[in-house]
Amino acid sequence: MSGIFGAYSAVKKTVLEEVYLGLYALQHRGQESAGISWIQDGSVASKRGLGLLHNAIDQKRLADGEAYNAIGHVRYVPLESSRLQNVLPISANYARGPIAIAHDGLITNLAELTRQLEQRGAIFQSSTNSEAILHMMAQKSHMQPIDALVDALRRIEGSYALAVLLENSLVAARDPYGFKPLVLGEREGTYYVASESCALDIVGATLLRDVEPGEIVVVNGKGVKSLRVRPEEKCRRLMHCSFEYVYTARPDSIIDGRSVYEARKEMGRRLARKSPCPGADLVAGMPDSGTIAAIGYAQASKTPFEMAVVRNRYVGRTFIQPTQKVRELGVKIKLNPIEALFKGKKAAIVDDSIVRGTTAERIVSMIRSCGAEEVHLRIASPPVLHPCRYGIDTRKENTLAAVRMTLDELCRKVGADSLDYLSEEDLTAAVGLPEEKLCTACFSGKYLEDEEK
Ligand code: SF4
Repeated sequence: MSGIFGAYSAVKKTVLEEVYLGLYALQHRGQESAGISWIQDGSVASKRGLGLLHNAIDQKRLADGEAYNAIGHVRYVPLESSRLQNVLPISANYARGPIAIAHDGLITNLAELTRQLEQRGAIFQSSTNSEAILHMMAQKSHMQPIDALVDALRRIEGSYALAVLLENSLVAARDPYGFKPLVLGEREGTYYVASESCALDIVGATLLRDVEPGEIVVVNGKGVKSLRVRPEEKCRRLMHCSFEYVYTARPDSIIDGRSVYEARKEMGRRLARKSPCPGADLVAGMPDSGTIAAIGYAQASKTPFEMAVVRNRYVGRTFIQPTQKVRELGVKIKLNPIEALFKGKKAAIVDDSIVRGTTAERIVSMIRSCGAEEVHLRIASPPVLHPCRYGIDTRKENTLAAVRMTLDELCRKVGADSLDYLSEEDLTAAVGLPEEKLCTACFSGKYLEDEEK
């Protein structure tokens, strides 16, 4: 997964520092690399690097620069892809001018597209999805850049939220199923596109709307124009990622009209009704993404909520660490239960999801070490049983805890007194979007490709 942010100032205000700040608000979507590209003297200029944003890019030097059109990207990548060539935005000066592309998502027909492009002479320098789009556009240099982009997007399958920098325009595009979130904002003549609305808040922009599935928004000196990747009637089946509401997105974001905070709280309330924990002395959430569901659980079960597990805010999200070794270390240094709150108590612990089970096992063990009498684990999403094919790195099926073990086995493995999950129906109801507009494939196994066969 990735975070993208772009800004175009119609009033010729420099936007580089705002793009930096926007990416800062999206750091939770990717901690492995960061990059910013902008137009300078008719060419594309970039700053890119590995690691967290502040390690990858020097804010001070950026703040001194001037550009009224820029895009940026923060990226989570598996370890083997962590090399500088793969850091986005990818950029080039081609026959039709400068271009830079930042992409969140996964192009599922990438191998086929790459083969076709290479047969026509394209030489790839990275293994990014974005480079394929760039080559597709370059091979249509008889077209205007925006027409070449639309043509390329029509050939792509899978998920994407894109920010594309052209010489005089900022372009945002969302795949026809709307897998990945993308919003449009505005402040005093400057337009912004961002993966999540929390990034608009940091630059003081107003959330205008979501970029619609299948929509291409073009912002330039003539204003804001909307194009379609495909005719609108082909976008009826939507697949907004439900995992965004469960885990990925920040709770202060609004995605496709639904507050992530409200959705998570409702997941907790529904979980309390489905799997109560009678006699519990306290409810605690696994920070940060389990905390809000825990508040909902506590409210619905009329049990005191305690911030009983404290997170070290200077350690990245456990799930986002790329190797098992780092991931295991990450849990230990990241979360610390407060002994005085757990000693002699029956505790209901709410977490957002169990993917590999590493975090759950370690935290239950730590809470028991604090002297808790009973530890009941409640998961505010259904079991993750299938890998994501649309850009969330949940790894192979046989590494998923709920695939490898029954509920009882998993409960024993993590060392809890009881364990239960939210149902798929409750997840859908808590998100508040119609079932036919939501992707739940990693829980249900209902992939889009299977539906379309
Ligand atoms: S499979 Fe899961 S993680 Fe992937 S897009 Fe669908 S809901 Fe999101």
